[in-house]
Amino acid sequence: MIKDFLYYNPVKVVFGEGKLNEVGMYAQEYGKKAIIVTTGTLFKETGLVDRLQNILKESGVDSVYYPEVDPNPLNTQIDKGAAIAQAAECDMVLGLGGGSAIDAAKGIAIVLGHGKPIWDFCMGEEAETISAKTFPIIAVTTTSGTGSECTQWSVITNPETKEKPGIGSDYTFAKVAVIDPDLMISLPPRITASTGFDTLAHALEAYTAVLSTPITDMFCEKAIRICGRYLRRAVKNGNDREARNAMAYANSLAGISISVGIVTLCHGLAHSIGGVAGTTHGETLAAMTPATMRFSMRANPDKFRKIAMFLRDEWGTESNFKIEDSVAEVERLIHDIGLDVPLSRLGLKDSEIDRAVDGVIAYMEGSITNDPSMPRREDILEIVRQSF
Ligand code: NAD
Repeated sequence: MIKDFLYYNPVKVVFGEGKLNEVGMYAQEYGKKAIIVTTGTLFKETGLVDRLQNILKESGVDSVYYPEVDPNPLNTQIDKGAAIAQAAECDMVLGLGGGSAIDAAKGIAIVLGHGKPIWDFCMGEEAETISAKTFPIIAVTTTSGTGSECTQWSVITNPETKEKPGIGSDYTFAKVAVIDPDLMISLPPRITASTGFDTLAHALEAYTAVLSTPITDMFCEKAIRICGRYLRRAVKNGNDREARNAMAYANSLAGISISVGIVTLCHGLAHSIGGVAGTTHGETLAAMTPATMRFSMRANPDKFRKIAMFLRDEWGTESNFKIEDSVAEVERLIHDIGLDVPLSRLGLKDSEIDRAVDGVIAYMEGSITNDPSMPRREDILEIVRQSF
């Protein structure tokens, strides 16, 4: 029997080397002036921002440039970007970068549409509803990665409260996602590893989630196979175009999967720990994925058993694998890409652990209820301790 499911992902996906050149053609459908959002000025220095502005201009789209976004974008930076976009009379928002730039672009699009600070949309039951007033979003991804170009999610950090919730609605999907693997060639090995592991974590979590669907299961399987085959290669040699191309594809497949199947406990914890300690998202996930897998795997043994087979890119041999093999395969990959670093060395302090555990329960509860193991507070604390 096919499991009942609901699948919705309205993003126009434009994939391929050189596809950045087509972004103006798509953007012109949504307005006349874009604010281009990046994390820092790197892409201005490399000429990518000028190139993008020229491409847009050729299709009659003007643009202003906003680089004041940190990795793990802050609510204040989003509000400031929206004020600049409003003053410049922009009618669309274009994120150029990894998850941070694209998530900030989504946040700016929400603020522009509703005229309220982004944090009003972020927390708890009293949060403002995100409506169709949200401005059009174009996502050009430069990491493989968060899949943000294909998700409705925007992850926003509040430096005052040290919280990092994920928000989203049907109106925060990008109208167009441009996935041009050429743009990922410049990613340094460490960021290739951490963002690539994020892709794998998305696929592992959406595949084993309570909300998994038959459609996203196919995408997750493919994404896991690609990560097993190509992530080491992309980390080892950033100029390996075949590996970059494959990882870019896996990134979007996994992104589509978490837009429907959502994430589970490890991602919820990575948000909370990132909010408390400012850790890098993909590195935080790598530190905790083995312990969360060990905890969750007996609640969904059929799927957890297949992960080892997918990661080795083998076919039809799942009965040869034990569920423990899946954890071992993931650990082997983490080691090979240099991410076997515990949370204590990523910047989390012992004194911050309780706050991080409380955070996931307070504002990432969906990641707990979507985990097949339904962990309790003491279980979550034990997972963090084991990963520390
Ligand atoms: P990032 O966007 O924070 O980028 C990391 C660094 O890499 C930045 O300094 C950036 O300037 C640099 N960079 C990006 N592309 C580059 C390139 N091609 N060449 C050289 N340098 C480049 O990293 P990320 O992992 O893509 O995004 C992380 C953020 O996304 C976190 O805040 C995380 O919580 C969030 N996230 C969002 C979703 C979602 O669905 N929206 C999912 C998972 C994570």
